This record gives sequence, structure tokens and C-alpha cells, in this order.
Amino acid sequence: MFLRVERLTKRFGGLLAVNDVTFSIEQGKINAIIGPNGAGKSTFFNLISGLHRPTSGTITFKGRDITRLPANERAKLGIARTFQTTHLFEQATVMDNVIIGHRLRTSSNLFDAILRTKRHRREEQACKEKAMEVLDFVGLTDVADRMVANLSQEQKKRAAFALALATDPELVLLDEPAAGINPDETEGLEELIVNMVQRGLTVCLIEHKMSMIMKIADRIMVLNYGEKIAEGTPEEVKNNEAVIQAYLGG
Ligand code: ADP
Ligand code: MG
Repeated sequence: MFLRVERLTKRFGGLLAVNDVTFSIEQGKINAIIGPNGAGKSTFFNLISGLHRPTSGTITFKGRDITRLPANERAKLGIARTFQTTHLFEQATVMDNVIIGHRLRTSSNLFDAILRTKRHRREEQACKEKAMEVLDFVGLTDVADRMVANLSQEQKKRAAFALALATDPELVLLDEPAAGINPDETEGLEELIVNMVQRGLTVCLIEHKMSMIMKIADRIMVLNYGEKIAEGTPEEVKNNEAVIQAYLGG
């Protein structure tokens, strides 16, 4: 079993954002999560990546219970993510974003991240090489020294992928990567995601663009009001009555 969540629940006051969800992310596949706005998709990612603690339920990664592990420890174990709105430093270069991002994600706090910057020059060099490698993979080598503020929306998405890949993950959680970009650019991102899986990564993808999901997802979980209402291949999910109702009713 690669990643398994069992009866996972997250309550915000009276709201059940994720309600008793049991689901496995299969290794080497593109696992997708869809559902109407507010269905609990991003919260589900926050629970897996360690940004939020579940109200109840368990998360197991490669046989280890990680339910109570802090986010930086999960990053070190191989779980990486992107956010729905890209978390980039606009006034820093693409390269520096990848390096700083790597440090912030694997440190226990900002102070620790700064200390590591000052103390470990050798670590710095290794970081830079890793950054070059992931920027090459996402196709941003040419703009590595450019300020993020000057990138196109699509390049910013690719930079966010690079940040996630810099920690050498096994599992990458992508939260609506194609939001706010045009169809041509979306195709480029689809290719990139397929390449990630071909390189041995496992992907879990939240996306609203149904054409993208239907094209590249191996399997889909559908959330509605925090609950899993369906799971299966794109073909199975497309024809599921509960899913059609959730979208039409929502
Ligand atoms: P989705 O990503 O599927 O659109 P979210 O996971 O962002 O949905 O949100 C699910 C529900 O949980 C929404 O009703 C949202 O308002 C609520 N929610 C998300 N995060 C928080 C939070 N930190 N505090 C309170 N409510 C939250
Ligand atoms: Mg969301």
C-alpha cells in the first residue's frame, strides 16, 4: 500500500470539510480528485501534506502512520505539493524560489531555514544543482535567473511544480494546476504531469478542467460536501448517477 487514508475526517467548527473518507493513492498512477467547489478537495490535500491535523482517521504512507507527523517531516519522507494559488516569492528569481522553497519545506521553522542557509555552504551547492535539474525538467532553464513577477501564468505554474519536485518526492499533490491558463498551456502541463509519472513519480491531481482529468487520470475519486460519492476509472465516474447529480445540483 502506497498512501492510504482511513475514515479521514476534518471538522471546522460545525462544518465537516472532509467526512469519513477512505481512499488509497495508487503508486505510479495519476490519481485524480474532483468535486464541486467547497467539496473538501484542498482540505484533503492539507491533511495529507500535514498542514492540517485530522479530527479523526488515519493516514498511512508506505506502511508508516504519518497522521501526527509535521509537514516538514512528511516532505522529507517524500510527499510534496503545489497550492491552488501559487506560493512564490514574486520579487525573487525562479532559481532562488526553488532553493528557498526547498529549505522552507524541509525545515521545522523559518529560523531553522535561515540558520541552514548561513551554516551550510556545501548544502547550498547541492541545492543549486538540484534546482537546475528540476528547472530543466519543467522547461524553465532559460528563465532561471528571471524574477518570478516577470513570468507568464503558465511559467509560474511550472515554477510551482519545480518547487515541489526539488524535495525529491515520491508523491506529488497538485492542487488545480491548470486553473487560470489557456487550453494550449494546459496541454503543456498535461504532458509534464504524464512525464512525472513516467519518471516514476506518483501524482494526485485536483482539477476542475474535466477534459484534462478525462485525458490523463488513471482513476478518480469524487468528493461532494466532504464525502466520497464515487470512485473509479474516468469512464465509470462519468456515467455515475450520484456524480451527475452532484454537478447538476451544485
Ligand atoms: P475545495 O478545495 O473542494 O473547493 P476546500 O477544501 O477548500 O474545498 O473547502 C471545503 C470546506 O471547508 C469549505 O466550506 C471551506 O469554506 C471550508 N474550509 C476550508 N479551509 C478552512 C479553514 N481553514 N477554516 C474553516 N473552514 C475551512
Ligand atoms: Mg480547492
